[in-house]
Order: sequence, then C-alpha cells, then structure tokens
Amino acid sequence: MKIAVIGLGHMGAPMAANLVGAGHEVTGFDAAGVTLAGVSPAPSAAAAATGAEVVLTMLPDGAILRRVAAEVIPAMTPGAVLLDCSTVDVDSARAVAAQAEAAGLLALDAPVSGGVGGASAGTLTFMVGGSEAGFARSRPLFEVMGQKAVFCGPSGNGQAAKICNNMILGVTMIATCEAFALADKLGLSRQAMYDVVSTSSGSSWSMNVYCPAPGVGPASPADRGYVPGFSADLMLKDLRLSQQAAELADADTPMGARAADLYRVFVEEENGRGRDFSAMLPRFERRGRS
Ligand code: NAD
Repeated sequence: MKIAVIGLGHMGAPMAANLVGAGHEVTGFDAAGVTLAGVSPAPSAAAAATGAEVVLTMLPDGAILRRVAAEVIPAMTPGAVLLDCSTVDVDSARAVAAQAEAAGLLALDAPVSGGVGGASAGTLTFMVGGSEAGFARSRPLFEVMGQKAVFCGPSGNGQAAKICNNMILGVTMIATCEAFALADKLGLSRQAMYDVVSTSSGSSWSMNVYCPAPGVGPASPADRGYVPGFSADLMLKDLRLSQQAAELADADTPMGARAADLYRVFVEEENGRGRDFSAMLPRFERRGRS
C-alpha cells in the first residue's frame, strides 16, 4: 500500500520502519525534520498525504492532531483512510473524524499500547474506533505493526478504551508501589511479597509483568534504573486525559483523580520527569505518613 506516516518520533519511526519492512511504499513527514531509511521524505504533511491510501499520524497531542488534520484532509483522496494512532482526548478524535468523513475519507482513532518496545518489535495492541470499512482496510497494517487490533465502536471509542485502560494501570501501579513500601517497613522481603501477590488476588500486570521492585519478577525498567519503558510524564498525560473525559461525561473517578494528582506531583515537583512510571516505588520508599 501507499502509506504516509506523519510524526516520526519514538513511536512513529519504528512503526514506519516495520511498514517499510513489510514491503509498503512509505512517505514520511516530521516537523522536526526527522528522516528514516526506506521512508521517502516529504516537504510537508499535505505533500506526504497526497495520493496515499492510508495516512497514519503519530503525534504528541490533540491540538497538534487537529492542526495536522486540517492540513492533510484536503490533500487526501476521497476513500482513503486517516488512521490516527496518537493518544489524544476523545473530543479531538471525534472532531477530526467528523471533518475527515465530511471530506469523504474513512477515519479511525487507533491509539496503541505496548510502548516503544512494542512499536519496534511490531507487537503493539491497537484499540480502534471509527469506520468499520476503514478498520477492515487497515487490518493488514495492524498485523504488521502489532499483535492485536480490537474494534471498539464509533469514533473516539479507541481513545476511550485507551484512557480507561491506562487509568487502571496508573492506579494499580501506585497501589503496587505503596504496598511494596509498606511491606519493606513490615520486614517482608520483596521476593516473598512478589511470590505471594503475583499468585494471589492482589496480582495485576503492574506486579506480574512490570514489577516495580528491582531484582524481582521478570526484567522490567526497575532493573535498569527506572529508565523508561513508559515514562511517568506519559502516564500523567493519559491520566489527565481520563480526568478530562470523566469531567465531560460526569463520571465519578476518585482513584483516577488521585493517581493523576500523585503523578503530577511526582513529575512536576519530585524529579520524576523522564523516569519510568514504576519509579513510584523509590518515591514511596523514601516517605513516611506525614
Ligand atoms: P514523540 O514526541 O517522540 O514523537 C512525536 C513526533 O511528532 C515528534 O517527532 C515531533 O517532531 C512530531 N511532530 C510534532 N508536531 C508535528 C507536526 N505538526 N507535524 C509533523 N510532525 C510533528 O512522541 P512518541 O513517544 O512517539 O508518542 C507519540 C504518541 O504516541 C503520543 O500521543 C503518545 O502519547 C503515544 N504513545 C506513546 C507511547 C510511548 O511509550 N512513547 C506509548 C503509547 C502511546
């Protein structure tokens, strides 16, 4: 397929590389002038999108997505697919999809989970909202870039699934870290804590797969000095998106709100910026009740 990739950052670059590796004809544009082997560089987003069957965007936030969409939609061929894989607010996803549909395009919001490792290995999970025909058309691309694509319903529902998942993740990571810090103070070894909880009702992905305690459980960012992985900054971004959505939908999300606040303090006031989101464990370790 003829594909344009707009946004060749930490995620977009390896996703584009996998599309090239699968034999697709890929044109790319990034505002920072990033170029990539095998990807034809375009002078603008609109130029990249011209003539593409699928335009894949992988951008930092909803405001940037709206700007890029306003540029690329008029350049796209009716019937082509606008496939946004960024994590953005549900409102921006729905607004961009409505504009794309009005121009005769098929629109999908398809945020991912799996991080940079998953993007490089081609093992991302895509949560997809929007056009069913667009989903069917994009399936071969999801298969190259990921291991799973779940169709979640109308436009915005992919973003809804993503922020609900990450709200659970933020809350369970904090719960796992504060429980480890309590266990330390009660004299329980981290290995014993892991062995019990990972096979008991307190188990979760945060404990079993991404254990925040170094030297315990499968290899995780904790074993590499909390180099991300998934940064606390990105977790804060996603928790803020879930709180913004909860506000608009009048949903009561007290644990999500508390998690957003703890990650805000960690990132903005406690040098958590750029550290893995599981570095909440050393944060709790250093603290007492007051
Ligand atoms: P990034 O900052 O590395 O990449 C974004 C790229 O977009 C940058 O290269 C930037 O130059 C480019 N860009 C910005 N404005 C542009 C414009 N107007 N036109 C063209 N290019 C523009 O970010 P990332 O880590 O690749 O994340 C991309 C998206 O994926 C975000 O929405 C993020 O929340 C989401 N995400 C990231 C991860 C992760 O682990 N990094 C995991 C899941 C989801």
